Amino acid sequence: MSKYILASSNQNKYIEIASRLSNITLLSLVDVGHVDEIIESGLTLKDNALIKAKTIYEKYNTPSISDDTGLEVHALNGKPGVFSARYAGEPSNAEQNIKKLLLNLNQVQDRRARFRTVICLKTSISEVFFEGVVEGVITTKTMGQGGFGYDPIFLPNGYCQTFSQMTLDEKNKISHRGVAVGKLVTYLNNLH
Ligand code: IMP
Repeated sequence: MSKYILASSNQNKYIEIASRLSNITLLSLVDVGHVDEIIESGLTLKDNALIKAKTIYEKYNTPSISDDTGLEVHALNGKPGVFSARYAGEPSNAEQNIKKLLLNLNQVQDRRARFRTVICLKTSISEVFFEGVVEGVITTKTMGQGGFGYDPIFLPNGYCQTFSQMTLDEKNKISHRGVAVGKLVTYLNNLH
């Protein structure tokens, strides 16, 4: 089977993505022994996805897949967006990020938000991008124990459970990353 590297040190992302890819071998950064931080200096999700995939592709000369995700809150003009990981400062801390977001939305009626993921597939011949979006609302308090990041406060439209309260399969079926990975899977199925 062809080998690809997932250019992310987020184990949750690895599990969500690897669980959908059956016709390739997806290596993690741990598998290839990569420990250096990749600086996400881009101003868009697409820029950052490309930076990550390219860095790993060039270092290991192996096709690489990356994911960059942002939470875009309507009442905050799309923030934190590309800065979602560092919303409450560095180092990235999910609990602090959630705390800051709930504080900034205190008394705000319009709680619409969307998760957006851009996946980049970097091979020797091309850079291809796949996008996934899920619309929802930000809850007023955390609900659920599962998932990661902003999952405990994101309620997708049409559901009464936050991403944290869903199983991985349930989240994968409707999530931003799930949608983007679906497009990647279709693309890879045509390649292999
Ligand atoms: P990055 O794509 O790893 O830079 O993630 C940006 C921020 O969004 C981080 O704070 C992540 O924890 C968060 N994030 C990424 N994907 C998800 C998700 O599927 N659910 C909840 N939070 C996420």
